[in-house]
Amino acid sequence: DDRIAGISSAIRVIPDFPKPGIMFQDITTLLLDPVAFKNTIDLFVERYKDKDISVVAGVEARGFIFGPPIALAIGAKFVPMRKPNKLPGAVISEEYSLEYGTDKIEMHVGAVQEGERALVIDDLIATGGTLCAAINLLERVGVKVVECACVIELPDLKGRERLGDKPLFVLVS
Ligand code: IMP
Repeated sequence: DDRIAGISSAIRVIPDFPKPGIMFQDITTLLLDPVAFKNTIDLFVERYKDKDISVVAGVEARGFIFGPPIALAIGAKFVPMRKPNKLPGAVISEEYSLEYGTDKIEMHVGAVQEGERALVIDDLIATGGTLCAAINLLERVGVKVVECACVIELPDLKGRERLGDKPLFVLVS
């Protein structure tokens, strides 16, 4: 698709952020380019509009940027998957491991119903730990995760393998 090149070139790479040795993929420059940003949303909407998806679950923080316009366009609800202690109501949470230590994501109890079909969205997949935790959280309450979608994949980190047989769709690798 000839829209991908424009999306790819609108993503900025910042070396040594947040730590030395990390090449940070910065999507804020993609948001500054209305054509590339719209093409990003359109590509996801074209893929998911006829898949009977009732939930778009966005992972904090950048899943909150891409998720809502997709949800509105396909007629689904948007559910934020947040970092710990941010959501005000009762939550269910899922812990996952990082390179050093653990982290957690949380979702409001009652945000989704058993039997719903979800798309999980984030800006980027690295090791896949974050998306796995999001999938587990949704599946624990009986939601079917149809697919995960990211703007960017870092293939060297093998996140796709960590997702097992769960489909992953990315725009830029
Ligand atoms: P994973 O859990 O190792 O797959 O890491 C993915 C999570 O870390 C996502 O929520 C990303 O937003 C974030 N992340 C990791 N590396 C980058 C990056 O280079 N740019 C933007 N986000 C990143």
